[in-house]
Amino acid sequence: CGIVGYVGTDDAKEILLRGLEKLEYRGYDSAGIAIAGNDGVHVYKEKGRIATLRECVDQNDEGFIGIGHTRWATHGVPSQVNAHPHQSTNKRFTIVHNGVIENYEQLRREYLQDVELASDTDTEIIVQLIERFAREGMATEEAFRKALSLLKGSYATALLDNEDTETIYVGKNKSPLLVGLSDNVNVVASDAMAMLQVTNEYVELMDKEIVIVTKENVTIKTLAGEVVTRDSYIAELDA
Ligand code: GLU
Repeated sequence: CGIVGYVGTDDAKEILLRGLEKLEYRGYDSAGIAIAGNDGVHVYKEKGRIATLRECVDQNDEGFIGIGHTRWATHGVPSQVNAHPHQSTNKRFTIVHNGVIENYEQLRREYLQDVELASDTDTEIIVQLIERFAREGMATEEAFRKALSLLKGSYATALLDNEDTETIYVGKNKSPLLVGLSDNVNVVASDAMAMLQVTNEYVELMDKEIVIVTKENVTIKTLAGEVVTRDSYIAELDA
């Protein structure tokens, strides 16, 4: 399973699909992408092969920012509904996630009693928590950091906000995740191989860090909100 994300100046869907194909070797049972265009975020997801997903993506759906996922089901059967991306009830937030949220039942009881979940995944809890905290008045970054700080378990995750379609929020704990840098383009991937098509310059993330990614900037922070600086490196791999 794996994650990709792209924000830049080219058509995101093709770059994301190619990136997911590069992650196929990691194993998966379903795949999906979300593209943010002028009229908001569109989600495409399918059980089965990336070739199947590719067929269902609207070729006219142009957007310069998006996230993608291959799923290895841990909570909920492999199905179209349980495939990622997942959206919050009001559709403002869209998330992909690799890993396992061990305390998702407790979080659901504590914070989401009144929320009807669309899937059987542990992942949906994260995006519903973010919607809840945003409704309570938090800015997206703060809601994202708060939600991640409540999680027990492993995650590599990427989030889109319908109300700010220039930013990808990513976070990680005990699952791999890298940020790739280029000119007016930045990317996210579980494995540099997925995004060598765009760049070979990467920054590694540590556990319990988040990154705010736009096409011009990459800002790493701790879950407490302190800015972290880290040098990038050149990945010596053949595309
Ligand atoms: N636990 C999540 C699910 O079952 C993510 C699995 C994965 O790592 O792909 O949907």
